[in-house]
Parts: sequence; structure tokens; C-alpha cells
Amino acid sequence: MRIVIFGPPGAGKGTQGVRLAEALDIKHLATGDMLRAEVAAGSELGNLAKQYMDRGDLVPDDVIIGMIRSQLTGGDGMILDGFPRTIAQAQALDEALDGASLPLDSAVYFNVDRDELVVRLLKRASELDRSDDTAETINHRMDVYEEQTAPVLDYYRSAGKVTEIDGTGTMDEVFQRLLQAVQESS
Ligand code: ADP
Repeated sequence: MRIVIFGPPGAGKGTQGVRLAEALDIKHLATGDMLRAEVAAGSELGNLAKQYMDRGDLVPDDVIIGMIRSQLTGGDGMILDGFPRTIAQAQALDEALDGASLPLDSAVYFNVDRDELVVRLLKRASELDRSDDTAETINHRMDVYEEQTAPVLDYYRSAGKVTEIDGTGTMDEVFQRLLQAVQESS
């Protein structure tokens, strides 16, 4: 199964993505986690990416696509979390999957109000040491999402791939909705 989980920063994709990947026994590919690992390792890619991440900007498409491309087509499938985040990334994903004759099963969109997202991100900022979760960058990341990432939702809507779930409530409630959405789309 190949599933994109999609939504604004703070929508809860990461936590739910890990759980879903375990439940389906497939890989969880999270570009944000991959980038933070590169930053922690001090690699050239990490040093470059950090400048964008700390500002709340997207890392350039060629860097992201180069980082993830080889992992898109192997195995029994994957949960893609945080990718694609631009139309160019969505097209690169389609090309990779089409080339391997592997369809994307669905894009699950986590719907959460912007006010609630800001509250969640500020809470995460106080709990985790993530250099991009500061009051200044949070609003910027929301704007970047609206401008560059929200169009990806329309892209998948046109392809008839989107299942929307309510991303509010407890972790278990959201997970049940996610599981149901995935089962209905397969
Ligand atoms: P969140 O869901 O809170 O935005 P992520 O961990 O998915 O967090 O991403 C953190 C940061 O990593 C983003 O703000 C961006 O700078 C960078 N990033 C992650 N994935 C991508 C991607 N697919 N394209 C461009 N930048 C990305």
C-alpha cells in the first residue's frame, strides 16, 4: 500500500503515521525526520537544509526529491509523511510510481483549524527541542503551507485520491478514523 498522509504543520501526521506504518507493517517515510537526521549527522545536505528549516521555509525540491527518490518504489509500500509538499514534488512522486507501475492508493488529509494548529505547535515548542517550533516561525510555516502545500491537496482531489478525516480529538479517535479511511480506499 502506498499512502500519503497530508495536512498542515501540527495536524498530527507524524504521530499517526508511525502508528499506521506499524499497523500495516510498511515503511514510514517522513521527510522532516530524514532531514533532522541529516542535520544531526552534520552532513552537507543537513547543513544546507537546516538554513531553510530554521526559517520555516521549505527545503528546495531538488534536494528533497534527490533524498527520497530511491526509497519511493521498493518493498510492500509506504506511508509518506510530509512529502509531497509542493506540486513539483507530487509530480516527481507520480513519475516514480508510474515508472514502476505502482499506484498511489490514497492521500489522507487531516483537517484541523488554523487556531488549533497554532495552539498545538506552541505546546510542542514548549515540550520538544525543535528549532523550528518558535512563535515566529510557526506563523510563517502556516503561510508556507497555504501557499505552497495546500495546492497539492487540489492536485490529489483532481485525481480522486483524497480522503478527508477530522484531525481533532484524542490520538486514538484520530487513529481509528485514519485506519477506516485507509481500509475504505484500498
Ligand atoms: P511539520 O509537519 O511540523 O511541518 P516536518 O517534520 O514535516 O514538520 O517538517 C519540518 C521542516 O522540514 C519543514 O518546515 C521544512 O523546512 C522541512 N521539510 C520537511 N519535508 C519537506 C518537504 N517535503 N519539502 C520541503 N521541505 C520539507
